[in-house]
Amino acid sequence: MGAASTPKPASRVVVGGARTPDHQPEFPMTDLSRRHLIAAAGGAALASAPPGAARAETGPAPIRGKDGASILGPTNPPRQAQEPFTTAPPTTDHGTMPNLKWSFSDSHMRLEEGGWARQTTIRELPVSKAMAGVNMRLKAGAVREMHWHKEAEWSYMIRGKARITAVDQDGRTFADDVSEGDLWYFPSGIPHSIQALDADGVDGCEFLLVFDDGAFSEDSTFLITDWMAHTPRDVLAKNFGLPESAFAQIPPSELYIFPGPRPGPLSADRMGGAGEIPKRFSHRMEAQEPIRTRGGSVRITDSRVFPASETIAAALVELEPGALREMHWHPNGDEWQYYLSGKGRMTVFGSESKARTFDYQAGDVGYVPFAMGHYIENTGDTPLRFLEMFRSPRYADVSLRQWMALTPHALVQAHTRIDRTLLDGLPQAKSPVVPG
Ligand code: MN
Ligand code: MN
Repeated sequence: MGAASTPKPASRVVVGGARTPDHQPEFPMTDLSRRHLIAAAGGAALASAPPGAARAETGPAPIRGKDGASILGPTNPPRQAQEPFTTAPPTTDHGTMPNLKWSFSDSHMRLEEGGWARQTTIRELPVSKAMAGVNMRLKAGAVREMHWHKEAEWSYMIRGKARITAVDQDGRTFADDVSEGDLWYFPSGIPHSIQALDADGVDGCEFLLVFDDGAFSEDSTFLITDWMAHTPRDVLAKNFGLPESAFAQIPPSELYIFPGPRPGPLSADRMGGAGEIPKRFSHRMEAQEPIRTRGGSVRITDSRVFPASETIAAALVELEPGALREMHWHPNGDEWQYYLSGKGRMTVFGSESKARTFDYQAGDVGYVPFAMGHYIENTGDTPLRFLEMFRSPRYADVSLRQWMALTPHALVQAHTRIDRTLLDGLPQAKSPVVPG
């Protein structure tokens, strides 16, 4: 590639295996990934190696103490660096567990004029039977066209602002503007629309959708244009009491995502009808006062505070560096996670001595099958923020620590052989986040 004859600035990241003049690795190494490499390599030999040593070119080594060996064949160093505990798992990992991680970066992008959509469903992450997710971006004015679907739709606004509308089976209406940290929920079969707005210098919006069926497909929703295009014109005319000429311009196929006229004030888009939908379809999740603990915070949003959301319960968790979402499980269903920022690590315990550890970063999806034990640790240098979703009207978790604290301590000691005075000191109150 002419790297030798065309020197590049030392800071430039080069692709295709070329090297910068000072032999920096092509994958820019953070302090964190360097720590992981050292940990994965079993320590001493690499601990004294300079930054950007040869090891970095192949990612973390599959070596743990005396076990393992270097990789001789092809590798994907940036990918391995994202998943150090997949390459060199802790000794506590054991047995065969399903894959519990998917990155939206590996999801096919559907590009349309005005935006894009990509999804993570059972086709991408086969274990995720209970829920599926869609990540969607709309530029200001762009519309996700009027549609409905069999599944209920829960959403979290990641960035920007949008106007949402819906009409229910009794002719009651809903319209609202949703911003960063807000949720919406459309029940199964209820028709709705989403249109991006201009706000705070952001051109439109990006959001996460979660559906209460892992088999959902964003490409299989019922679209108003698609239906009209597949109905005889004379039937359309009869149905609406309009001349056939009124339908001369209907699109010949679906629009799905398309640029639209900027809407006016929200008040003008509140259509009245048979009155407002009684259970509001939007909710200000980040305006909720969180449960604060040393090490982080948790906001829980289920049908108790967001009554419309009858099939999806959610939690927004924030962990400071080193903090732990404590060891727990959920008595009421699978967990679908979306990582908003930072880096985290989760080990899932699946009974029969099975356990597997995964590393996650912003944009990743995590999954925990029903009742499996797990913790999530912030392994980065910045706050870790993630969403947990459940196909349930109520949020529920069972804390390992609280269970032990509230079971006769002589009995717990007989199982764990933990000193009785230490067991007596365990707090009885649940703390979803514990400090690092
Ligand atoms: Mn929808
Ligand atoms: Mn959980």
